[in-house]
Amino acid sequence: MKKESLREVYKAEETAHGLEPLVNPTQWANAGSAIFVEGSGVRIKTIDGREFIDASSCGLCDVVGYGNREVAEAAKEQMIKLMHSLSFGGSATIPKIELSSKLAELTPGVERFFFENSGSDAVEAAMKAARWYWRQKGRDKYKIISRERGYHGATFGAMSATHVDDINNRDFEPLVPGFLYIPCPYCYRCPLGKVYDSCNIACATVLEETIQKEGEDTVAAFIAEPIIGGAGFIMPPGEYWPKIREICTRKNVLLIIDEVVTGFGRTGKFWAHQHWDIKPDLMTSSKGITSGYIPMAAVGISEEIYKGMISSGRPYPHLHTFTGHPVACAVSLKVLEIMERENLVEKMAKMGGYIRERLTILQEKSPYVGHVNGLGHMWGIEIVADKATKTRIKTKVPVILQIRNHMLERGILYGSPSGLHRVEKPLPSDRMGLAPSAIATREDIDFILDGLESAILSIQP
Ligand code: PLP
Repeated sequence: MKKESLREVYKAEETAHGLEPLVNPTQWANAGSAIFVEGSGVRIKTIDGREFIDASSCGLCDVVGYGNREVAEAAKEQMIKLMHSLSFGGSATIPKIELSSKLAELTPGVERFFFENSGSDAVEAAMKAARWYWRQKGRDKYKIISRERGYHGATFGAMSATHVDDINNRDFEPLVPGFLYIPCPYCYRCPLGKVYDSCNIACATVLEETIQKEGEDTVAAFIAEPIIGGAGFIMPPGEYWPKIREICTRKNVLLIIDEVVTGFGRTGKFWAHQHWDIKPDLMTSSKGITSGYIPMAAVGISEEIYKGMISSGRPYPHLHTFTGHPVACAVSLKVLEIMERENLVEKMAKMGGYIRERLTILQEKSPYVGHVNGLGHMWGIEIVADKATKTRIKTKVPVILQIRNHMLERGILYGSPSGLHRVEKPLPSDRMGLAPSAIATREDIDFILDGLESAILSIQP
């Protein structure tokens, strides 16, 4: 059967029996999705034979590349040896034990890890751990503070901590009670109307003010991403995280760092929080943890928090059937082995310097690149009509879509090639994020950046 007609067959099946999130349902019923069938290295192919270099690492999961046989073999071996065994109630598997030790070795100040099935699960689990910790200590601290523009997941608790303009969480109300939001550190468009660095990092001070207003005795934790992912990779100023850490410690509020996107070397250090030399009380990880080969997530806990959690002697009542799945743990151990052997974290740190140079030149060249920030393999770029006023560009086709289409034509996957990804409300800014795989070579990075440059230089206002 011709490739094009094969796509039509699957399109008909999919649109008859599937449900596709984040698309306009009428457009999707007509057009169907882009259907991907295979990948190798940093490239991925659709059923109708189109090949793209993936500039987003499969939703920021990919670390060791598509089609890695070593990883697949590790999964196969573990499946044959022991496909699963419950990891609670006094039962464990060797891959789970080895993975917790390995992650603890890689994470100074975080001695213990337990495992979940997705980033959202990990966020739920970390927030539950925080509430449990305080209750074991006889204190009814339950409120969770998060940030505007932060994304933490799709389950009820994680969704309640999420505050993203283009995702209509409010349609699922009532959300979980006890969640509060503070402005995020976005110096380019400061939500507090301040200017860095005369602001004295007011976006961090507001955490202290909120804790004070709510009452220190009611607030369990503050949760935040080191670099805001969903809102277009927004970096905080250098002083932000040390100040947040200090406030949390002084105010007896646990700090949960959500490293679902930023972990596993993405930013040029194993965890992004290591750039600011701070330690979390609790942390979450997913995505890169298995390089996208199998779903899994982790929650890290400092020894002090662990001691508090078990202080009453009661068993901790949190589990999933697939907690600590040995196949996922074996995959993660193999990913870590490859990362170490190939020096992938150092490679991303170095490549980040090169990406910075090229994006800075592009920013100087184009009147429309208002803001560039990032680290390692995680870069946010904001398009504006005028650099002085930062006004948004008015184009017939939304500018981010223009850029996406141009890049797709050059064989670079950024966003959805079906063109269907639509949000109901206009986005608050024209930001885009680039996040190529850790194994992308200098040539791959140049290919992506040449495509981006060509797209940006041909923006039609
Ligand atoms: N936390 C952050 C920072 C994320 O970016 C995401 C997803 O993108 C999640 C949590 C939720 O992870 P998942 O989609 O695996 O549930």
